[in-house]
Amino acid sequence: MGGLTTALALAKEGFKHIDVYESASNLGFVGAGIQLAPNMARVLDNLGVWKQIEAEAVNITETSVRVGASDSELAHVPLEYIHDTYGYPHMVGHRSSLAGGLYDGCLKHAEQIHFHFSTTADKVTFGPKPSFTATPRDASQAPYTVEADVLLGCDGIKSNTRVAMLELLNIQAHVKDTHQAAYRIMIHRDQIKDDPELLALMEGNKVTRWIGEKRHIIAYPVSNNTIYNLSTTQPDSNFAAATNATYTTRGDKSVMLGVFADFCPMVQRMLATVPEGEVCEWKLRVHEPLPTWVHESVALVGDACHPTLPHLAQGAAQAIEDGGVLGAVLAQLPDTTPASINKALKVYEKIRKNRAYALVELAAASGRALHLGDGAAKEERDRQFAALKEGKGPVPDKWADADVQRELYGVDTTAIAREKFQELFAEVTV
Ligand SMILES: Cc1cc2nc3c(=O)[nH]c(=O)nc-3n(C[C@H](O)[C@H](O)[C@H](O)COP(=O)(O)OP(=O)(O)OC[C@H]3O[C@@H](n4cnc5c(N)ncnc54)[C@H](O)[C@@H]3O)c2cc1C
Repeated sequence: MGGLTTALALAKEGFKHIDVYESASNLGFVGAGIQLAPNMARVLDNLGVWKQIEAEAVNITETSVRVGASDSELAHVPLEYIHDTYGYPHMVGHRSSLAGGLYDGCLKHAEQIHFHFSTTADKVTFGPKPSFTATPRDASQAPYTVEADVLLGCDGIKSNTRVAMLELLNIQAHVKDTHQAAYRIMIHRDQIKDDPELLALMEGNKVTRWIGEKRHIIAYPVSNNTIYNLSTTQPDSNFAAATNATYTTRGDKSVMLGVFADFCPMVQRMLATVPEGEVCEWKLRVHEPLPTWVHESVALVGDACHPTLPHLAQGAAQAIEDGGVLGAVLAQLPDTTPASINKALKVYEKIRKNRAYALVELAAASGRALHLGDGAAKEERDRQFAALKEGKGPVPDKWADADVQRELYGVDTTAIAREKFQELFAEVTV
């Protein structure tokens, strides 16, 4: 998401030689939904790709937080105000729509953006002309060195670029095990056509969260209400032994059903739709905050520098904000010397880093509140949920809290980059 957005933002600004190296053979259409928050939509709209993505998405007008075991409602929060307040609705969609929309946008700049699929980048070097080794998956093609004026590491949570930068700068920032994992499930209409309760959820415009001790499920319809998407969070036990090597695995259906065995019958029916052998579990990892995202003419983007737990649904949105800001700052370079490039990248970091890390913290805190077991803290949380029914106070599910939404959706980081570039560029030192 970060790489495609950055490439498109740079092309829109008139950059002519943008090369994207992707180790996968295609965009890897993960079968999962994604929340398209207004701050993400704003960047995508500026880049001219939002309309296509929006056309396949679902407009969310309300959210319901419920007790997993009983299905009783803890909180109901209307979200219609979001469109009027922030200029974009809160939508949810299929990951393939988001990636496809960005990719189609890039293809409209085929003269400027060149894609190199099935090609892995590693051995990153720094300096006025950073470089890396590109290794095609096709073993008959020899690895080659790519040199660039600016190298942007949008290579996700396992980023080779981050590892190289930290090694060079002798910085220790370890991968942190969150001890959480997620099942991602998509239910198609024909699987539930005889279940009126589930059909009503699929046809609605609601995000529902069922919560329980150390676990929750968030669910919403995507793809013009033809698919119901579930994303769970539960204690990680299956990945416990594997450290860095793997992040997804085929899960065992009976284990998945066991994890949510005490959730209500409706949730059980949803989980039961997953075909045997198609349970996919994701490890949820983050890493310690980095002291810097930039070295010389190299910068890190997206999960490479600010991976987050999904509880605020902001990981991709933040990677997309990065792309918008990079386009805006590099477009305003007074010249293309390595010193100016480094300073412009530092302006990017200045605009993005504190915001991204604040959201990473908030997502972790929201997860802790959602996953509380019996005790005083849970009682206080549920008191807040109850107060909310009277229209008072904060929402313990931070994703649904209006003050948090103002921080997330009400800030236009690309506009800040355009407005403040000169001032910040003058401030940063090389
Ligand atoms: C369960 C779950 C639910 C989520 N829900 C949401 C949500 O609702 N909304 C939201 O905004 N975010 C959500 N996220 C977060 C979001 O998916 C990520 O934050 C986002 O994908 C990060 O984008 P990225 O471009 O930084 O990294 P990625 O999407 O991981 O992309 C990195 C790319 O780099 C490629 N790559 C990696 N290494 C190399 C290499 N060495 N050479 C070449 N290519 C390489 C990879 O193949 C990949 O295509 C969720 C995450 C999870 C786990």
